Amino acid sequence: MKKKVIALIAHDNKKGEIVEWAKNNRQTLENFELCGTGTTSRLVSEATGLKVKGFLSGPMGGDQQIGAKVAEGEIDYIVFLCDPLTAQPHDPDVKALLRIAVVYNVPIATNVATADCLIK
Ligand code: PGA
Repeated sequence: MKKKVIALIAHDNKKGEIVEWAKNNRQTLENFELCGTGTTSRLVSEATGLKVKGFLSGPMGGDQQIGAKVAEGEIDYIVFLCDPLTAQPHDPDVKALLRIAVVYNVPIATNVATADCLIK
């Protein structure tokens, strides 16, 4: 059976959290195909040894690339640890990704507690 695909994205202040989460859930994540925005995917891959397909960095269009994959039905879950306390230059892309996840009914976890629920 084809593995379900999780997209991983974390804003800069949340990268530590997503790396910790991925390390804590490494065994479970082995059962998924992983992808993510540029820096997030690299950090998670380095910390866990898991293969994580990297798109462009978020501010350079990575969120939009992931959004397009959602629209094409190629992403099953999203873990998007966004930073609620810092303005993001690519805020329109962030909103667009949240919107497209709602449109296609793709589960999107925006904090660690929800990410834990999502992979249980
Ligand atoms: P990054 O992108 O993983 O390339 O840092 C995340 C973002 O800020 O959207």
